[in-house]
Amino acid sequence: MRRYFEMDSGNARRDPPAPRQAGVLVDSFGRSKRKLRLSLTDRCNFRCGYCMPEEPEWLPKEQLLSYEELLSVARLFVEELGITNIRLTGGEPLVRRNVPAFVEQLDGLRAVGLERISLTTNAALLERHAPALAAAGLDDVNISIDSLDPDRFRAMTGGGELEPVLGGIRAARDAGLAVKLNAVVIKGENEDDVLPLARWAKDEGVPLRYIEFMPLDARGGWQPGKVVPEADIVAALKGSFRVEAQPRTREPATYYTLDGDYSIGVISTVSNPFCSSCDRVRVTATGEIYPCLFSPGFTDLKTPLRGGASAEELLGVIRGAVWQKDAGFVVNSGYVQRGITMHALGG
Ligand code: SAM
Ligand code: SF4
Repeated sequence: MRRYFEMDSGNARRDPPAPRQAGVLVDSFGRSKRKLRLSLTDRCNFRCGYCMPEEPEWLPKEQLLSYEELLSVARLFVEELGITNIRLTGGEPLVRRNVPAFVEQLDGLRAVGLERISLTTNAALLERHAPALAAAGLDDVNISIDSLDPDRFRAMTGGGELEPVLGGIRAARDAGLAVKLNAVVIKGENEDDVLPLARWAKDEGVPLRYIEFMPLDARGGWQPGKVVPEADIVAALKGSFRVEAQPRTREPATYYTLDGDYSIGVISTVSNPFCSSCDRVRVTATGEIYPCLFSPGFTDLKTPLRGGASAEELLGVIRGAVWQKDAGFVVNSGYVQRGITMHALGG
């Protein structure tokens, strides 16, 4: 029923089973989990070169968990395992139909401990959905935007248009959603967007985080030399702003204050990983548990879920998967050779 496999992780463990206290989901390094990233689909309306194959083969629809199945998984994580934050992701979550209705169902889990419902999106379809998402109970939205130049934006997203994304950002703010922007920075592609993005986001009063390019792309294009490390991003910012480092928290990003009045973050997974404080776990749209973006293997939750396993059996599967979480990118540095890349994993 359960098929956890490990490939060459360099950190394989066969440890005692995870603790079984209600409300606790912990790995063997003692890191408890509070945040679930739930992927709604592997499909996407963009083709970002750092994420998606040029010609993706979508997973068969019947393999995707239904909303009913996703909700029962979410309920287990929240009610029994102490997850307080759920982030919906993909692929592009908004290409799946009826996301607001699903958010409304998740909203019902606040009664059993859910505190925050979030969405990560490319925002191409956000303008039309933002009011319904906010009304359904969505708290916040992370929007990916790697350039403010329409041509470069189109090149990086494989044909995406910038204007609808800007419209999506406006609509999300108008709907009262908390908005954060994410920009992947890649050497030779958009490192000279670091400053324009910072100036614009600061003027707009929207938080922005840069993301270092991670070795999870589908096209094999990642090389260490394409990563723009946090230190270089900060150096670029210093060209235009007074930059002060803020103390590091449990957040994945390190934050800096620009000119005394604006916070900007860098998610430096490659140059300065935050794995030691990681409180996340991921479930793909097909019900595979990946305790880490860089996990070499997964645990299949869909088969027992569809096979009629009891809640106790499913909890055992989840606890076992999380218990085996590796130390993180610190261990699995370099390319992770697997049959899954970012869009299917749920970034
Ligand atoms: N489609 C949505 C979006 O783009 O926001 C959600 C899914 S996407 C996989 C989630 C995040 O992962 C995005 O912010 C994207 O920029 C980031 N991402 C994808 N591939 C990446 C890579 N190889 N390195 C760093 N970030 C990556
Ligand atoms: Fe789609 Fe998001 Fe991947 Fe871009 S980063 S291809 S928008 S899933």
